[in-house]
Amino acid sequence: MSFDSFIGNSAAVQTVRDMLRADRMPGALLFTGPEGVGKKTLALMLAQAAVCERLKDDSCGECPRCRRAAEMIRGAEEDLARRRELKDSARRVEGLLYFDLQLIAPITRYILSEQIRVLRQVAYTRPFELPRRFFIIDQAQDIHWQAVDLLLKVMEEPPETTTFVLVCPNAGELRSTIRSRCQRVTFSPVDEDLILRLLKERTQVPEPKQRLVARLAHGSVGRALAFDLPGCLARREIWLEFFQSLSGGLGARARTPDWQRLFDSTRKLTGDRDSFDDILGTGSELLRDMLLVLESGETAPVSHVDLVPQLKAWAAAFGFAGIVALKEGLDEAHRLQIRNVNQQLGLDSLAIGMVSPARPGQPAPG
Ligand SMILES: [Zn+2]
Repeated sequence: MSFDSFIGNSAAVQTVRDMLRADRMPGALLFTGPEGVGKKTLALMLAQAAVCERLKDDSCGECPRCRRAAEMIRGAEEDLARRRELKDSARRVEGLLYFDLQLIAPITRYILSEQIRVLRQVAYTRPFELPRRFFIIDQAQDIHWQAVDLLLKVMEEPPETTTFVLVCPNAGELRSTIRSRCQRVTFSPVDEDLILRLLKERTQVPEPKQRLVARLAHGSVGRALAFDLPGCLARREIWLEFFQSLSGGLGARARTPDWQRLFDSTRKLTGDRDSFDDILGTGSELLRDMLLVLESGETAPVSHVDLVPQLKAWAAAFGFAGIVALKEGLDEAHRLQIRNVNQQLGLDSLAIGMVSPARPGQPAPG
């Protein structure tokens, strides 16, 4: 795949293209930065470009070596997927064979010792088919502790025809002795406008929701492309009803709290235990947005960009103290959940707390 199709992180792309042009491929590289910005993708693109017969600082995708490189990547991914399915732990690393372009990634929670042992055996032999060998180690922080020394040994005596690319979100999780042997390429979160363009071009996300998805992806292309918009909207809908009923209960027009509707909302909140954390997370986002709107008005950098008028209305209804009280209630609900206390109970008491007449700065109900 050509570098032109890579989204964002132009400085990182420039760095690797400069390496290719200068014909100076380091023995070890470390690609580090947030999840979902394309670190592994760029490592694979680099390896393919390095062996392309036609282009110096890119891959044509058509020459025999480019095609072979693509096959090797596919083969490695299929092999990893197959091994992850195996129940018998001994068989997971049985018969490991490494291509000249090899992707190495965790098979279990870890990259296993045997995976690194095979890497060491192969690294010092001449490449079989390609002019240079690339070992791309994805999630390098998950190399089993028993195998880290082995990898370090290889990196201390770098094989001439092999380049290692370690891919790792947080370089601090790697041992410093490994880190110091790598040339580092740093990645940043991708600009929201670039993600927006990507959503327009490559997804079915409806136009009015594209900005929302781009914002909630927090600079991650991966997160934007895999974003569960229906799930997000369903979780949000519950909160919209909740805040709506609550603001009605507190507002001057409806002095009598709508208890029934309130509890219906919280009951819906806890209907699906598995997504309880996600639901609470969405609630936190909305409360944070209300605080932002209260502080900076309509231009506030809120997450839920398509809800600004509602956020403004609720923020006015709850006031600063009310939003903070809700936030504290949410945190309490989260603690209760961790301690496995009945979730419904936690949220019901939170709702009662919110509409009780004891809160300062609000007219007493009745
Ligand atoms: Zn090519």
